[in-house]
Amino acid sequence: ASLSRHLSSSARTMAPISKETDYLVIGGGSGGLASARMAASKFGIKATIIEGSRLGGTCVNVGCVPKKVTFNAAAIAEALHDAKAYGFSVEQTKPFDWTTFKHKRDAYIERLNGIYARNLNNDKVENVHGWARFTGPNEVTVALDEADEAGNKEVVIRSKKILIAVGGRPSDPPSIPGAEHGINSNGFFDIETQPKKVAIVGAGYIAVEFAGMFNALGTETHLFIRHKTFLRSFDPIIQDGVTDNYEKLGVKLHRETQLTRVDKDATTGKLTLHYGSGETVTDVDHLIWAVGRTPLTKDIGLDLAGVKLTDKGYIIADKLQETSAEGIYALGDVTGPVELTPVAIAAGRRLAHRLFGGPEFSNYHMDYTNVPSVVFSHPEVGSIGLTEPQAIEQYGKDNIKVYKTNFTAMYYAMMEPEEKRPTAYKLVTAGKEEKVVGLHIMGLGSGEMLQGFGVAIKMGATKKDFDSVVAIHPTSAEELVTLK
Ligand code: NDP
Repeated sequence: ASLSRHLSSSARTMAPISKETDYLVIGGGSGGLASARMAASKFGIKATIIEGSRLGGTCVNVGCVPKKVTFNAAAIAEALHDAKAYGFSVEQTKPFDWTTFKHKRDAYIERLNGIYARNLNNDKVENVHGWARFTGPNEVTVALDEADEAGNKEVVIRSKKILIAVGGRPSDPPSIPGAEHGINSNGFFDIETQPKKVAIVGAGYIAVEFAGMFNALGTETHLFIRHKTFLRSFDPIIQDGVTDNYEKLGVKLHRETQLTRVDKDATTGKLTLHYGSGETVTDVDHLIWAVGRTPLTKDIGLDLAGVKLTDKGYIIADKLQETSAEGIYALGDVTGPVELTPVAIAAGRRLAHRLFGGPEFSNYHMDYTNVPSVVFSHPEVGSIGLTEPQAIEQYGKDNIKVYKTNFTAMYYAMMEPEEKRPTAYKLVTAGKEEKVVGLHIMGLGSGEMLQGFGVAIKMGATKKDFDSVVAIHPTSAEELVTLK
């Protein structure tokens, strides 16, 4: 008895403090914050969120938000240029002040971080700063950023319901000599002065958006892609349309090639990129790898919790966000299917309803079909539903009908032919009733245009429904309700 007393007293002093919560959320990004706040504010649940970095996750800190602010700067640069065609004499006496812009953007993100912390506080969600790892099926140990008042550097938190929403990180570059001289999408947001020359490797959302912004802001931009086109998961009208337009806009597009070596000049810091069969690009200020994203599932003890992964390292979660381990849920970028902030938010809120909202919500879950998404490219593109090739595969060529149009938006009426940018729309319909199963748009304003059409498609609209709407004239969107 005395031995066990001795053991338990020493265990008490050695062991980290431990606590219980009703809903433990690992990851303070879009999905985790939405779920924890919904659980606490709507259902009065004792919720705890663990975040080791800044609140808001990828989207707020190194993704959608600072990207969109930069895209707005690029759009203003384009508008200043276009203004001449409308009779304005806009002489820029000084170049774009990247450094001031960057610091204002940083300050905006810091304000958002503060708002997120206050929102958690208002909703009474406990906010733990540190890195979590599973130490048992219902148990997580958090290495705290700072020791708490009692000097504890670790805290053990137990919960019957644990949500993993830890997101992802930029994928590592291919292993070529000198790859480490490049930065990734996180590093883009640290660039302090406007580069004269950049190179981007990749063909997805991130590479295409970065290349378009740099080019519009006046940086010489090289984009290296492995195939003929980029955005290859999009409908061919978008792949071909945007890829060709980037060349017209002056992006130095290196198609069907890959970097083989990167050298860094020790004095100037400038990079020389070797590619293809002996070609080079010299004097590059920044090389940005944008070759995809990787889920953050390593070193967080998922094996101890019994959480299974796909061979690419994503957590396997069903439509109810349930993992292979009881009481452990996962959503957002760490699960993979659609890596978009609003998807994680919607999944997080629905999960909170299902877990804590009673029988009424027992089957409430995210619908991963017909998710609209926009690429803030030049021009913008929007897409929802099936691409034409996907529709052919799903319904058969004879059962689909495609409507498309190409035109020049009226905005460009005052411009010279070489300054006009393309607009292209496509509607993919299926069956006799011509249900709209895919909508793909490229052109000015597509980003704002898609949301409303998304509602119609979610409701099961047919071509006839589209045609029944009176066009708004003169707009580009009217073309979508007058397609022949
Ligand atoms: P993606 O997975 O979309 O694209 C990466 C692409 O890079 C690949 O598809 C591949 O295209 C190409 N690539 C891969 N490896 C190499 C290589 N070694 N050399 C050259 N090219 C390579 O990843 P992103 O990082 O662009 O974006 C990640 C996710 O973030 C997106 O899926 C999206 O969900 C989200 N996102 C959304 C945005 C929005 O909504 N506006 C904006 C930014 C990101 P290929 O096979 O053609 O070579």
